[in-house]
Amino acid sequence: MRQAAEARNISSIVLDKAKFPRFKPCAGWVTPQVLRWVGEEVDNYPHGLTEFTSFDVSLNGFKFKLPTHQYSIRRFEFDDWLLQLAEPQFYMYDVREIRQENGEYVVDDEFSAHYLVGAGGTHCPVYQTFFSQISPKGQGAMIVAQEENSNSITRMPAASCGSLRINCPGMPGMFPKGTAMSMWAWVVLPGN
Ligand SMILES: Cc1cc2nc3c(=O)[nH]c(=O)nc-3n(C[C@H](O)[C@H](O)[C@H](O)COP(=O)(O)OP(=O)(O)OC[C@H]3O[C@@H](n4cnc5c(N)ncnc54)[C@H](O)[C@@H]3O)c2cc1C
Repeated sequence: MRQAAEARNISSIVLDKAKFPRFKPCAGWVTPQVLRWVGEEVDNYPHGLTEFTSFDVSLNGFKFKLPTHQYSIRRFEFDDWLLQLAEPQFYMYDVREIRQENGEYVVDDEFSAHYLVGAGGTHCPVYQTFFSQISPKGQGAMIVAQEENSNSITRMPAASCGSLRINCPGMPGMFPKGTAMSMWAWVVLPGN
């Protein structure tokens, strides 16, 4: 990954206010395309990487198995591993202000770059500065998520790994991973 960036003459830095590995509730679903982008290093991934071949879908009481070919990881582990793999200059830094100046993005008068990539989550300063006005996040819905460690869940059969249940006005789901289980629920708030 680092060699690929160097070959393209790309130098990058990463700013994050958290020290990695950092807490990150997420279903942890990654597509085969993501793993192809990471490259062959993924063969030596030191944490749990669960492959699953179907989703158990329940839609308004109608249940069926949806064949698929996907993977799941724990973001707590995967993000930290990616960071170590890419070896960028990492700064533990709390971004306060971003502005555009002379064709560059300037962060707090401390950092500048031609290109800026934001994580895009709720608290992402890139999203807050450039996208919150043109693409506001919905006010009428909320996602709650929990990731649990458990030895017993590793005994789940791989074929039933993915599980989605769609039952308006919300969507609960769960994803087993090597040593953990992610559970989440997307909920439409009353009145919306
Ligand atoms: C329940 C749930 C399930 C999901 N499932 C999936 C899934 O299966 N697959 C998938 O790909 N995505 C999934 N997502 C989406 C994914 O988890 C992220 O929400 C999305 O990718 C953006 O998150 P992020 O970590 O990139 O950003 P954020 O959650 O916003 O975090 C970005 C980073 O920015 C840092 N940060 C925040 N503020 C500052 C600041 N001022 N200065 C410096 N650093 C800062 C934080 O420390 C954090 O490390 C899911 C999300 C939820 C809520």
